[in-house]
Parts: sequence; structure tokens; C-alpha cells
Amino acid sequence: MIDHTHDAAASSWVEGADGHGDFPVQNLPLGIFSREGEMRRIGSAIGDYVADLAGLAEAGLLPHVLRPALAEQTLNALFRLDAVTRRTLRHALFALLTDPAQQGAVSPWLYPAQSVELHLPFAIGDYSDFYVGIHHATNIGKLFRPDNPLLPNYKHVPIGYHGRASSIRVSGAPVPRPKGQIKSPQADQPTYAPCRRLDYELELGIWIAGDHALGQTIPIGDAWDRIAGVSLLNDWSARDIQAWEYQPLGPFLSKSFLTTISPWVITAEALAPFRVAQPARPEGDPAPLPHLWDAQDQARGALSITLSVTLASAAMRESGMGPLELSRGTAQEAMYWTAGQIVTHHASNGCDLHTGDLLGTGTLSGPAPGSKGSLMEISQGGQHPVNLPTGEQRSFLEDGDELTLHARAMREGYRAIGFGPCRGVVQQAW
Ligand code: CA
Repeated sequence: MIDHTHDAAASSWVEGADGHGDFPVQNLPLGIFSREGEMRRIGSAIGDYVADLAGLAEAGLLPHVLRPALAEQTLNALFRLDAVTRRTLRHALFALLTDPAQQGAVSPWLYPAQSVELHLPFAIGDYSDFYVGIHHATNIGKLFRPDNPLLPNYKHVPIGYHGRASSIRVSGAPVPRPKGQIKSPQADQPTYAPCRRLDYELELGIWIAGDHALGQTIPIGDAWDRIAGVSLLNDWSARDIQAWEYQPLGPFLSKSFLTTISPWVITAEALAPFRVAQPARPEGDPAPLPHLWDAQDQARGALSITLSVTLASAAMRESGMGPLELSRGTAQEAMYWTAGQIVTHHASNGCDLHTGDLLGTGTLSGPAPGSKGSLMEISQGGQHPVNLPTGEQRSFLEDGDELTLHARAMREGYRAIGFGPCRGVVQQAW
């Protein structure tokens, strides 16, 4: 639902918010922060500040009905509330931050963003990862099966697997290089050693709102009612461990060592103007089964989000160089299945989904050469390394590399909103 909170002309009295690349007043993402020595609290990003929503609620400046959920240390209770109640939070916060008469009352609850620490937004019960980026699936498939890159199920089933929730961390957390079983094609036996082909995967993470019981499903027409919002997700991947372990049950330790997310939840309400038509399936592709097909979802189920990835090696940072952009593309060009289809498919066997569950989209590579969402694709399995401005080369990530995912929702007539960075620096193995 698009309303006055999406008006491109809306202006905030918070210094710097109107021109802010990520967090103008049209965004109002939700997350968890703490000030030094204090408990975790629910906040929202506005410009270069974090608004303390628990504090604003305690001061009686936000709807009374939200007060218990806003006093929690995760977003789970808030996103168990119905969508109408949740929208009252967005409307009330928007009113506080746009009305100059509220500046005196609200300002004590704004903290400089650099002065707070950000945390996981939800207590994450379960994490699953999909594979809906069709160009990524094709690029990877070609490395193994040049003539037949996509398997026959791909256009019928949103392919996914169950990931690991315990090792999800927010942007900025160090990324220790994993160790694992590696068997090079030339070797007779595997060894247990530090990963030598460490990669990233550019993904969006879909957060689930609300709960349903085992044995129930989510009709495709209701799927967006169950989407709390979206963050960036880096599914760090150990390609050499993956190549040895993945058959026949799929990736396991090559993925579960760490997943990084951006800490702010860009809410479904904030994303409303950026929901666009899903690109038509190419001529000859099968139609999805009826339980995965909805005309409204096709009309408004894709996301107009530009995604990019940057890399800065330790040597680049030491010489004061800016990061190198590795790729730039869009979510709507990359995703063969919509976020709604992902959610509906996940529950279509009767599996219960709960508030704070996280569903990764899979690597979002576009059709253009400069829009590939992993080094495995960019370097074509290590055959074509990337040249860095220092003269260094990268087929895969080295210790000290800082890898950052970026996202901006953009559409003509609306103020662009950003996700904030999803960053990690690779550390040497223990
Ligand atoms: Ca993945």
C-alpha cells in the first residue's frame, strides 16, 4: 500500500536525512542497537542517526498498543503483530520525524549512528537458502555441464536447502577463513585444511512475519502478508569444500561456517513503491503450478532494487585506495521466482514458518557480464582473475579482503532508499 509516507517530497527536520543515500524519512528501517554498556533496544535509522523506538514509546510519543513489543530486545514480538498495527508504527514515526514541532521532544531519543552497535534484528529460528537467481544457476551449471546448465526441475520448483541459523552475523563481524575437507581433482585422498577457494554470494534475505501451524500452507495471494522485510545477505561459500562434500545431499559445511546480513530490516511497507512486475517467463518455459501462480504477485511481486558488490584488499586500504566495484545489477532481472513464490513454496508441504525465519534468495546475478554475484562466476572458476588497482589479482578471496554488498531500491517518482552495508573482512584460519 503506497501512502503519504512514500511521498518523494516529504522532508525530515533531522539534519542530513533528506539527502541521505540510504535512510531518508521514506525508509524508516527497523533494527536492534545498543549504546555502550546498555541493553539492546529497537531502533530505526534516519539519516546518520538511530531513533530509539523503545525510548519514544516510553515517552508516550508512539501508539500505546506498540509499547510492549517495542520494549523487547529483538523484532520478533513486533512482527508477530498484524500488518495494520505495524503500519501504525511507520505512520507515527513518520509524523514525529517530519513535524518540526516534534523536534524538541524527539531529539533526546536520536543517537549518532557511529555511537551505537548494531545487532541481529531477530532471534532467527530457521534459515533456508534458495537458488532463484537463474543467471547464477546457469553460470554455475555451465562450469559443470556446458550443454545443459539448468537441471529439469529448475523452472518448476524454487530450489532451496536448509541453512544454519546459529552462524548468522551482522555486517562488520569478522569472517574467519573456514577449514574443511578438501580433495583436489589430482589428489587421491582429501585433507583437512584452510579453504583456498573462499567466495561470497550476493543475496537478499527475506524475513518472515507472523506464524502458522504445522500442516497449514500460505496461499500465494497472502505471501506478502508474511514478509516482514528484506536485508542484504552474504552467503560466504567455500568452493573447494563444497565441490567435495555436495553430492548427493547438497552444500553443508561449505556454507554453514558464516552468513553475514545487513542489520536493518527494510520493511515490506517501505518497499511498497518498489514492487514491480515480474519479468515475463521466456517463450517456451513451463507455467508454474497453480499454487505458485498469482496474477497480483506477477504484477507486483518483483523488487526494483539495484545491487552492487565492492572489494578492498588490505593493501588497497593501506594505500588509501577506494574499493573496487566487482558487479552491479538488479534484483528483478536476477530472480526467476518472486519473493512471494519462495515463501509459498517453503510452506507448501505444510512446514510451519515463524516470525524471524530468514529465507535467502540465492545468488543474484544479472544477465550482463558486469552483474555476476560471486567470484566463482566472475573468475569463471578461477580461470580469469580480477585485476585490483594495486596490481594484485583475485580469483577467490584472500585474508584481509573487505567485501561489501550494497542495495538501493529505486523507482522513478519515488525517493530512493538504501539498505546500509553488508560487510565482512576475511581473517586467516585459526
Ligand atoms: Ca547461496
